[in-house]
This record gives sequence, C-alpha cells and structure tokens, in this order.
Amino acid sequence: DAHKETLEFKAEVSQVLDLVIRSLYSNKEIFLRELISNASDAAEKLRFEALTDDQLFEDDPDLRVRVLVDKDAGTVTVSDNGIGLSRQEVIDTIGSIASSGTRRFVEALQSREGGSDAAGDNALIGQFGVGFYSAYIVADKVTLISRRAGLTAEHGVRWESDGRGSYTLETVEKPGRGTDVILHLKDDEKEFLDAWRLRSVIGKFSDHIAVPVEMQKEQYEAEDEEKEAQAEDRAPEFEQVNRGTALWMRSKSDLSDDDYKEFYKHISHDFEEPLAWAHNRVEGTNEYTTLLYLPKRAPWDMWDREQKHGVKLYVKRVFIMDEADKLLPHWLRFVKGVVDSDDLPLNVSREILQHNRKIDTIRGANVKRILSLLETMAKDEPEKYQQFWDEFGKVLKEGPGEDFANRERIGGLLRFSTTVSEGTEQSVSLDTYIERMQEGQDKIYYITADSPAAARHSPHLEVFRKKGVEVLLLSDRVDEWLVSHLHEYKGKHLQSVTKGKLDLGELADKEAQEKTEQAEKEHGDLLKRLKESLGERVQEVRVSTRLVDSPACIVVGEHDMSANLARVLKAVGQ
Ligand code: ADP
Ligand code: MG
Repeated sequence: DAHKETLEFKAEVSQVLDLVIRSLYSNKEIFLRELISNASDAAEKLRFEALTDDQLFEDDPDLRVRVLVDKDAGTVTVSDNGIGLSRQEVIDTIGSIASSGTRRFVEALQSREGGSDAAGDNALIGQFGVGFYSAYIVADKVTLISRRAGLTAEHGVRWESDGRGSYTLETVEKPGRGTDVILHLKDDEKEFLDAWRLRSVIGKFSDHIAVPVEMQKEQYEAEDEEKEAQAEDRAPEFEQVNRGTALWMRSKSDLSDDDYKEFYKHISHDFEEPLAWAHNRVEGTNEYTTLLYLPKRAPWDMWDREQKHGVKLYVKRVFIMDEADKLLPHWLRFVKGVVDSDDLPLNVSREILQHNRKIDTIRGANVKRILSLLETMAKDEPEKYQQFWDEFGKVLKEGPGEDFANRERIGGLLRFSTTVSEGTEQSVSLDTYIERMQEGQDKIYYITADSPAAARHSPHLEVFRKKGVEVLLLSDRVDEWLVSHLHEYKGKHLQSVTKGKLDLGELADKEAQEKTEQAEKEHGDLLKRLKESLGERVQEVRVSTRLVDSPACIVVGEHDMSANLARVLKAVGQ
C-alpha cells in the first residue's frame, strides 16, 4: 500500500516560500549551500547515532553527499546517505513549520508596519534562515525521497510539491538509506544544469564541510558526445569536489577571511557575515579547538528564555550536539561556533556536560577569548565595537550579575548614555567616565528611569549639572539588575543619584552645607507640617541641595528598592 495522500501546507509555509523566492533571488545559488548543509547535517547525525548502534551503517559506511545533474530531465539532485527521514518526520519537518523559530519569523513579518520591502525581508531572513525552502528559488517542483536509517527499504517516503499550498506524500521502496532532494529547475534556471557551474558554487560554499561532496566524473569531463555515450555504459564514477576537511582543524595561516565567513554561514544559518571571530587550538592535558563567532545582528530569539545557544560540540571531529549551552554562559548566548574536544568521551551526554571538569575549563577559556576579542575590538575598532554594543549591549549587561569573576572586565566593556553624551546612543565607557571625573569626585553617579527621556530630564540631575558632574543615564530593563551587581569599577563606587542623602563627597561645598543647615532651622515648621500631612506615605521630609530649579522631589532610602526597580517588578507581575 503506497498510501499516497495529498496534504496542505500549514498556512505559513506558503508565505515563507513567497518571501524566500522574492527576496533571495539576487543570491539564488545559496539553495545549493542550504541543501548540502542539510545533507551534511544528516550525515553527521547518522555518524552520531551509529556510535551506539553501528547497524545503522548497513553496508554503506562511507558518508558522502552527491550532487547529480540530469540534463534531459532538467533536474539537479542533492543526495546523501545520512540519517534520512521517516514519513512522520517528513510531515513534521518539511511539510509544516515545526520550529517555533520560523513561526516567530512569520509573525515578525506580519506584524511589520508598512508592508514589506526587499531590504527588510533580507534582513529578516538573515535572522531566521530558510534552509530547505530555498530550493524553490530555482525549482518549480521539488521531490524529496528519503529513508530513515534503521528502517527497511520498503519504508521509503516520497514527498513532492510545487510549493503552492499542498504536497503529496507516498510510501516508496528506497534501497539506499538517506535522502535525495530532486530539483526540477525552472525554465530560466537551466544554467544550474552546467556541472562546472555547480562545481564552482560548491567550491565557494561547501569547501569546508567535513563530509565529502561528490560529483560524477564524466559530467564535466566528457564534453564530446562520443565519450558521453561510452560513459553511459559504465557505472558512474564519482570524485570529491570539495576539500572535505573540518575547517576548524586547518591552521589559521591556511585560511582566508572568506573561508571563515562562509563557514560561519554554514553553521549559523545566518545570511549575513559575522562581525568577528576567534580561532584557537589548545594543547596539553585537555586538548581542544574552538572557533567562536560574533554575529552582526542579534537573533530574533535572544530574549526568549527557551533560546538555545549557538555553539556546536564535536568530539574528535564527530558532531555530538547543537546548542551545547554548557560551553558558554547565558550572557554570551549570542556567540556562535564550534568546540571540538579531543578528550571528551564520544558518548558524552547532556548529563555529563553538566558536571565535567574539562567542559568547565573550556567554558572558562571561551569566556576569556570572547572578552579579549571584544576588548581588542573596542580599542582598535571603536566603530565596529559600537555596532556590536548596539545589538548585544543589553545581553552583555547581564554579565556582571552572572559572572562574578569577570565582573571588572565586563565592566570595562559596558557603554552608557550619560548627561554629557548626546541622544540615546550608549557610547560612554566607565573608563571614559572616570577620566572625566571632576576633581574631588570619587563616585560614579547614575540614575535609573524607565525611559531615556525620563532619565535625562530627572530633577535629581540638577545639582550634578550645576557642578558639571557627569551622570550615567540608565533606562534599559536590565540596568537595575546590572547596578545591583556591579557595585564598583576600578575602585570607584557606583552611586544612585536618587537614593538616600545626597552624598557628593568632596564635591559638596561648604557654602551649600551651611545654607542647608540654615534652611532647616528656618523652615523647620514647614517640614513638620509636610510630614504630618503626608503621613505614612513618606519616611521623612528634608531640605536638600539636590535641586536647583525644581521645588521638590521624591527620594528613596539608601537601602530601599529604587522607584524604577519597583516599577519594573510591578510590570512583570511581582
Ligand atoms: P534547518 O537545517 O535549519 O533545520 P531546513 O529547512 O534546512 O532547516 O531543514 C529542516 C529540517 O528538515 C531539518 O532540520 C531536518 O530535520 C530535515 N531535513 C532537511 N534535509 C534533510 C536531509 N537531507 N536529511 C535529513 N533530514 C533533512
Ligand atoms: Mg538547513
């Protein structure tokens, strides 16, 4: 029973397809990268599952991806002998948008104001990745034939769709394990039937993939018909057309920036280039290689609690798991890359990752590498660093609360908007602040508020303006968390300007002090009357030198929750 059925795409799929075709058209050969990337993932998954069940290799242990051209049929096929898909897996992964990621992508599209524009679409797609559906950039029909490793030949599945709303699914016999994706090229995309053209695209995009990518020898050698006719009688011969070594194992001197950039796109599913990277090999008792990347743009799910981290774990070149969140702390969750350990067991599980000394060491070293990378960028390429900060600053601000040991180094990377800087850009470092401190000033002053404007226009700042003392303007949600953990930087205490008695230290001038005392004497009755009429609502009413133009302001006690934190907690329902 072939059990053929026609199923509707989930509504979002058609939308994604339309968008993909429209906005990636100018860069259409990426379909090959996406399909080869999936094929290579499938090979790596098989290799991993086979660690505990080597029956899965059947009689075909050499994992590879093949790209085949059929000029007569007008098709290009990407074929792998990887893990394959069961019927249900095809429905779940190809026929619907299973990942919440893509769903969020569609929501982001729908909620965007002012309709769509190509540049915006590209940026959005860059954040989500399109994968399999990129096939429809060049194909008007795609057939996927797959068999899951471990199932018998009659459990193959054939999926086919023109990408316009529905697809068919039937059970077929498939002797070889793995997946064939057959692209029926659109009439004006026949250029991809040229084996040389495909070869050059593979060289560009898939050179660094550890799995060999093969093409049929004759297809680009036998150009004359006689040879071709001969070739048809023989079993096809294949040859590897990519380099096929894991990029991170090659030496730095052997790699160009373009190599690193392409590899980043492969592992991150990001269409944009990375902002920076760090590639290191550590030798000794714990040997491992790391290649870590900073993306240009924050992923759409950076604020999602469920969000997985983007570092892949390999052991001796064997892919073990995606999103190995023990390799980096939460506050560096935007970092992508690869860690390949020579010393972990191949059967390493999530549980082992939880408490393993080697993993802890790698994690600690990863943090240090990223901190150095950022420090160097901040020093040598301040504009690039600013770009980084604008995207990821809010996440980095979680650092001091989570990583006590690196608090000071993270502090050095923070950037703020201040009473001296203009606009809302956060560009002033604590070191710059300290350099600009007034004579006699020994504290770093800050104000927290729920918006940049509220911070900038707070009456609490009047006296600081008058004395020319810079104040950090904090209005990100995470700022309260930051200042509750970063109490000092380079020996300078961080002091809220809205808390407790105004303590200007050496800055307070004698004259003002005398004035205060005098005012307290003169207006003692008024203060008392105010306190009486405000009753329980205030703790104290007092004269202050805090204000210059405003008549009065509300202050919280030194050890009380700030008014802004109270607001934030209330907003999240605490
Ligand atoms: P991603 O690769 O980011 O998960 P894709 O759209 O490229 O997204 O692929 C969606 C899913 O389809 C994959 O996660 C995988 O489960 C499945 N898939 C696609 N191609 C293959 C393949 N060649 N072999 C096995 N599974 C595949
Ligand atoms: Mg993919």
